[in-house]
Amino acid sequence: MKGIINGLMLTIKYALTRKPITIEYPRAVRKSPNMRGMHKLDKGKCIVCRVCANMCPNGSIKIELKKNKMKTKNIEDYDYTVNIGECLFCGLCEEACPTKALELTEDFELAEYERTDLLKNLSG
Ligand code: SF4
Ligand code: SF4
Repeated sequence: MKGIINGLMLTIKYALTRKPITIEYPRAVRKSPNMRGMHKLDKGKCIVCRVCANMCPNGSIKIELKKNKMKTKNIEDYDYTVNIGECLFCGLCEEACPTKALELTEDFELAEYERTDLLKNLSG
């Protein structure tokens, strides 16, 4: 009997004093500095070396010359697309970028209604 009462007291103590560990998403969002979410491209730093695209294990990054544009080192002359539907968010592209032009941000709310909308053009 004493054991049951001790157990009950402990349960009541936890129920009344302990703060919840969980959060009420989406009203509250918890982010981590180690988070790997949506890609962000610094167009000023990008030298169109394609290391990120070559490094990607899934072929999720495509860098293609825009119509009527000459080959340059300006990323705005290219379509730089990331297929979020295929991306593993492994961060290899970010790690490999020699100029630190690519960053995986904390933005993880990337759901879309259409599959085609998962293709994100970062070069504008
Ligand atoms: S995070 Fe990984 S899978 Fe996604 S684009 Fe970069 S290298 Fe490819
Ligand atoms: S983002 Fe980095 S690795 Fe990718 S093309 Fe630009 S400079 Fe090269």
